[in-house]
Amino acid sequence: SFEPLASDFYGFETLLTPEEQDALMRLRSYMEGTVRPVINDYWERAEFPHDLVESFLATDVARFAFPETRPFENSAVFRGLAAMEMSRVDASMSTFIGVQEGLAMGSISVCGSQEQRDEWLPRMASGEVIGAFGLTEPLSGSDSARGLRTTATRDGDSWVLNGSKRWIGNATFSDITIIWAKDTSDGQVKGFIVDTTTPGYSATKIERKIALRPVQNADIVLENVVVPEAMRLQNARSFRDTAKVLRLTRAAVAWSSVGVAIGAYEAAVAYAKEREQFGKKIAEHQLVQDLLARCLGNITASMALCVRVSQMHDEGTQGDEHSALAKGFCTSKMRETVAWARESMGGNGIVLDYEAARFFADAEALYSYEGTREMNALIVGRAITGKAAFV
Ligand code: FAD
Repeated sequence: SFEPLASDFYGFETLLTPEEQDALMRLRSYMEGTVRPVINDYWERAEFPHDLVESFLATDVARFAFPETRPFENSAVFRGLAAMEMSRVDASMSTFIGVQEGLAMGSISVCGSQEQRDEWLPRMASGEVIGAFGLTEPLSGSDSARGLRTTATRDGDSWVLNGSKRWIGNATFSDITIIWAKDTSDGQVKGFIVDTTTPGYSATKIERKIALRPVQNADIVLENVVVPEAMRLQNARSFRDTAKVLRLTRAAVAWSSVGVAIGAYEAAVAYAKEREQFGKKIAEHQLVQDLLARCLGNITASMALCVRVSQMHDEGTQGDEHSALAKGFCTSKMRETVAWARESMGGNGIVLDYEAARFFADAEALYSYEGTREMNALIVGRAITGKAAFV
């Protein structure tokens, strides 16, 4: 049965249909019962919990968004709250889904032909095929709309890919990776579904990260990787099409960042009710209450923004600038919130066992990926002024 979160202060979850609420409760129970008890250890070892993938995907988290796979009709607000719910327990597991469902399946859904959607989406939703999304390169991050150096050269019925990628999530174990490369004939960015067993393709794990440690990010090298024309995303004609995928995933990261803020805040509230100083619970001190109230203000304002962006998605009015504002604003508020939550726990706030520490560290990755705050501000700035300051 549906039980609203205490940290959903204005009751946004009550906007969902009973069917959506049931699905959200199933996801919450999986995350609390199966992920929360083990995730700090995976985080410490920087190891991905492969043994959880099957049961995780059995919650349908990778199915909801696509007509080809969804178990029931559902809203973008529901899918956003699901992303928030996952991140409230662990941002690495939600990032795994963000890559699999948001970026990889999303690219096939937005830029693939119907034949490609039918072939890949059901197999990826079940976890039979794991995907990754390769856009960023060692020498091109924020400027990837123009600065990609990876090339795709047409050769009869095939394409030959050369170049390198950096930061690619899930890529140490993905079966396919969506590779974005510049067509050497027209200079436009095109997308390719690359089978990772193809000769010339290699992926190496990036070590010693201090955020999202269970997520396996890789450096990829492509040396004369041959990809059949049938594996080119048929509707990816230029970077404008890549941007359509990012428009969706940036809104999802905004939702996830609210989840990360809630995760840290909830740890802080529980701690404040237990910890005593000056002869009473720290929850009874006015300045601690002030910190918690500020956290809740950030969380609630961010949720309201996310709800509206998702409603705009369903209404067909969501533009790049709306996702960009939500991503930049909510991740900034998350960063402030996890710092306050950690701070309110004193020294224990930096120890993994007390939970806030993991959210505090993971927040840094969400803040920078899918477009930094600066780049998202410039997308909003272009909408305000009509002038692009980043070309
Ligand atoms: P840079 O572009 O080098 O930026 C450095 C700094 O300069 C930033 O503060 C930036 O805002 C600023 N800057 C740059 N240009 C301007 C400008 N014009 N005006 C003002 N400031 C500017 N990529 C993928 O393709 N697939 C993935 O799965 C993936 N997963 C990731 C997971 C993690 C944990 C991380 C950290 C990154 C991931 N990325 C992935 C890459 C991510 O999207 C990039 O890190 C991000 O876009 C920023 O690029 P960069 O790191 O190269 O920074």
